[in-house]
Amino acid sequence: MQIESDVLVIGTGAAGLSLALRLADDYRISLISKGPLREGSTLYAQGGVAAVTGSDDSLESHINDTLNAGAGLCDPDVVRYTVEHGAENIQWLVDQGIRFTTEHHKNAFHLTREGGHSHRRVIHATDATGKAIETTLEQKVRQHPNISIYENHIAVDLITAAKLGHPVERCLGAYILDRDTNEVDVFRADQVVLATGGASKVYLYTSNPDTSTGDGIAMAWRAGCRVANMEFNQFHPTCLYHPKAKSFLITEAVRGEGGRLLLADGTRFMHEFDARGELAPRDIVARAIDHEMKRRGDDCVYLDISFKPAEFITEHFPNVYQRCLEFGFDLTKTPIPVVPAAHYTCGGVMTDIHGHTDLPGLYAIGETAFTGLHGANRMASNSLLECLVFAQAASEHIRHGKHGSPIDIVIPEWDISKVTDSDEEVVVSHNWEELRRFMWDYVGIVRTNKRLQRAGRRVQLLLAEIQEYYGNFIITNDLLELRNLTTVADLIIRSAIARKESRGLHYTLDYPEPDISHPPANTIMTPENYTAVSSAASASLA
Ligand SMILES: Cc1cc2nc3c(=O)[nH]c(=O)nc-3n(C[C@H](O)[C@H](O)[C@H](O)COP(=O)(O)OP(=O)(O)OC[C@H]3O[C@@H](n4cnc5c(N)ncnc54)[C@H](O)[C@@H]3O)c2cc1C
Repeated sequence: MQIESDVLVIGTGAAGLSLALRLADDYRISLISKGPLREGSTLYAQGGVAAVTGSDDSLESHINDTLNAGAGLCDPDVVRYTVEHGAENIQWLVDQGIRFTTEHHKNAFHLTREGGHSHRRVIHATDATGKAIETTLEQKVRQHPNISIYENHIAVDLITAAKLGHPVERCLGAYILDRDTNEVDVFRADQVVLATGGASKVYLYTSNPDTSTGDGIAMAWRAGCRVANMEFNQFHPTCLYHPKAKSFLITEAVRGEGGRLLLADGTRFMHEFDARGELAPRDIVARAIDHEMKRRGDDCVYLDISFKPAEFITEHFPNVYQRCLEFGFDLTKTPIPVVPAAHYTCGGVMTDIHGHTDLPGLYAIGETAFTGLHGANRMASNSLLECLVFAQAASEHIRHGKHGSPIDIVIPEWDISKVTDSDEEVVVSHNWEELRRFMWDYVGIVRTNKRLQRAGRRVQLLLAEIQEYYGNFIITNDLLELRNLTTVADLIIRSAIARKESRGLHYTLDYPEPDISHPPANTIMTPENYTAVSSAASASLA
């Protein structure tokens, strides 16, 4: 089947939904989600969205905090652009119907403070901000007549003109697998937007839902786009330690409101690592916890906010309180056990300030993109902000940019003539486990050259095995995700090997300090087919 629209949006988190809504009055939108529409990281975001709305705060302060957290690698223009568009995007969310928590008896937002922020500036809907955003925007897209929603559909690969032999390169759409019928359809569109979220599922322990398998990054890479800074993986310091909790995240706002990290014997330790104590940036807190757990052979550390009045805790953290209670931990009475887990992908598909990638007609927004905002370390609550600001930027570029003439070319249907049903599904499940474990053990919070090289050798074997499997068997959701995760793992390992220093989230025992002999630089990975993309792209613009 061939389905045509003006704009194909792959991904239905904060980035994809807000972009779709910003364009839907004037464009026909196909909106794709590989699971239920609301499933993705956005739904689980607790803390909130950073933006300057308070009278004692300033744009300069938010900019400086972001630059400081980014450890020399943020693009200052992108940081300024993002921060300057913060308040209007919060207003846009309010206009969509999202009710943020306000100060008692006042009309002003209640603001929380998180690590790295010098002011209270995080706007939130109690401790379930992502749910408020996702479910409100979900309702809006479901009601919009110009938006066609395809749930349970997973994008397989982008369709590009050059691959079909056309002299001018351009993204034409995507092949998309309907997971219910197992059929692959052609989705053709004038503009394609990747809003597929991050890749934290590449690690064994993660705070992310199952959707975060780096599909957009891998698809863009295969289509010839550059990918940058993949070595910067953020590990959230405090996920609930319980075998059934699936790394349930305890929001940083708990530390923002005075929560203390403790060892098993009840001693505080964060001030030995950083003068800011529990409010140091996440990488420092995660490394300190990792260090203490390894030094003492402990399975976890503890987070304590029980010294605050019980009503304060249940009012500020109702969801965290309830979830912890379900696992037998009462936040108002005792410290709770916590461990770090993979949380955020700072790198991604390289874009310009409009969210546009190297490939004409292809945008990347939200966690899947590398805009230059986060540098070597994302500051808390800047990611939802980035989703919103770049959804706005890309929608304006789609509306007003120069896009060249449409390409008139027949797109072939997906070819299944050479593949058969797999009789060896175990290859997929085995490799899935192996990949995520060695990424955790060798490419995790603390790295070394030896560990990275070991991981590099293993990932090459997996890549070859999966490529062969992919070429011979009918595709499934699990195979597609594994293929993408392995590609992303390879990019992470190669980027980590290339960085001969410790900076931000990348920490290696072989080079424990930042390299001050050169100005800080991004790690840019260029695919073999990039030359074709870039030269054809410039030809199309000439
Ligand atoms: C537990 C948790 C708490 C967080 N708290 C905060 C916070 O307080 N503040 C903050 O700023 N950030 C927070 N973050 C980070 C933030 O939530 C994410 O960075 C952000 O929501 C990403 O939004 P997105 O739209 O880019 O992707 P997502 O919300 O992850 O959505 C990705 C979408 O892409 C779809 N998709 C993926 N691959 C495919 C494919 N191949 N085909 C079709 N569809 C596909 C998925 O189905 C999903 O719909 C948190 C993250 C987590 C996990």
